[in-house]
Amino acid sequence: MSAQDIGDLIGAIDQGTSSSRFFIFDAKTAELLTYHQVEIKQLLPKEGWVEEDPKEILSSVLECMEKAVENLKALNIDPGKLKAIGITNQRETTVVWDKVTGEPLYNAIVWLDLRTASTVEKLVASAPKQSKDHLRPLCGLPLSTYFSAVKLRWLLDNSDTVRQGVKDNRCMFGTVDSWLIWNLTGGVKGGVHATDVTNASRTMLMNISKLQWDPELCKFFDIPMDVLPEIRSSGEVYGHLAAGPLKGLPIAGVLGDQQSALVGQACLSKGKAKNTYGTGCFLLYNTGTELVLSENGLLTTVGYKFGKEPTVYALEGSVAIAGAAVRWLRDNLGVIDTSPDVEKLASSVDSTHDCYFVPAFSGLFCPYWQSDARGTICGITQFTTKAHIARAALEAVCFQTRELLEAMNQDSKIPLQSLQVDGGMTANSLLMQLQADLLGIPVVRPSMPETTALGAAMAAGYAVGVWQFDSGTLGAITTDTFTPSITQEDRDHQFARWKKAVTRCMNWAET
Ligand code: ADP
Repeated sequence: MSAQDIGDLIGAIDQGTSSSRFFIFDAKTAELLTYHQVEIKQLLPKEGWVEEDPKEILSSVLECMEKAVENLKALNIDPGKLKAIGITNQRETTVVWDKVTGEPLYNAIVWLDLRTASTVEKLVASAPKQSKDHLRPLCGLPLSTYFSAVKLRWLLDNSDTVRQGVKDNRCMFGTVDSWLIWNLTGGVKGGVHATDVTNASRTMLMNISKLQWDPELCKFFDIPMDVLPEIRSSGEVYGHLAAGPLKGLPIAGVLGDQQSALVGQACLSKGKAKNTYGTGCFLLYNTGTELVLSENGLLTTVGYKFGKEPTVYALEGSVAIAGAAVRWLRDNLGVIDTSPDVEKLASSVDSTHDCYFVPAFSGLFCPYWQSDARGTICGITQFTTKAHIARAALEAVCFQTRELLEAMNQDSKIPLQSLQVDGGMTANSLLMQLQADLLGIPVVRPSMPETTALGAAMAAGYAVGVWQFDSGTLGAITTDTFTPSITQEDRDHQFARWKKAVTRCMNWAET
């Protein structure tokens, strides 16, 4: 296709835990025309604390947009063809800022951060029957360090600046989508303070049936409701870009990253599921308009809601550490130079030789919800090398996915026949083959891996009327399929060994 034949375009900001990116898609073919990516610094001020600088998050996004637009021009494509942008973002990460100065009142507390372990303990102790599931019927989530309300509670308890901001009626709270929307639509000069239903469904403050901030939940966490953004659908015009090369363009789609991948993978009907492998690993299963409360440690979450169309719900299994274990091999052990190098290193051995690595750096999420679990490597012998440990890190992602899938199959009563995957780690074909082997079902990888960004672009394009979901647009994306190549006996034996390794890392942290 020549540059002249290109029709309407849609942009998508993908603000992830590891990096920010801006993508430009063709609305007719879903073809990715260009993108730009900037890695984000993670600040680790104390053991278990993970922060990011909200201003760096914003500047990285602005840089990505500028560079991607320059790339587009270099392709001889007119940026005027862009009709809207969507935003997808790391979820739960909590930002508080001053609405008068626009300055953050604290660093962003990243979803992985564990500082709230004792806050969670106190909250659980204050709940009837001391149950961490007490709020599940209202918000679909267990009490955990993971969700934003607990992080905001910690900020109110521990930061004088934040407390003063609330007292002076100057504090705004938001997840990363809200921080970006507010700044991109004008910031102190009239920015829009809003979030979408999918991001709001990760705060523990939204009523999952009514899709509104819930007074009872806010009371439980003692959070003033006037700091909260307005909740909107995932597909509608939020406002317009106030500056930069795309000034005036509407922001028309907003989805948390995992929900965005659900849309981008076209899991748009009940019973469809996808697994995204990034910093963590997230399996979402579309339950249609039915809100299913899990009996197996999964989360109930909003899948998406486009404009006034019915709300679609999902069950979610979340694993805290997936690609982050590979980053740890790179940054903390120095056994690889880049994350993709792990594939070559892990392929240099034919198995882990009974070595199991449970990367419970931030406790364990689904289905255990144990914040005091810590990482362990079991079965080390004199024979064990960095290659075995690297392979064990990849297998850990696969075993954790099997745990999610088993919980999902029990809740949904309909076993998945194949798994659609996406995310940065899926470039690793060894990982994909190990995943098929260890699950026993085919693993289907799209040739265009950026389905997270695609979902936000689809939501935005749909809202402004240039993207049709039923036009077969997504049929253009081809896939690779990895099929299982080991026996069920072998698979179950390895999984039993993994489970044994998991028991060794429980209750390790002293809180
Ligand atoms: P996020 O959206 O959470 O920022 P990405 O989808 O960009 O994450 O994936 C980045 C993560 O995947 C990093 O933790 C990185 O270590 C890991 N990763 C990237 N490429 C590979 C690879 N080829 N093999 C294994 N892990 C990888």
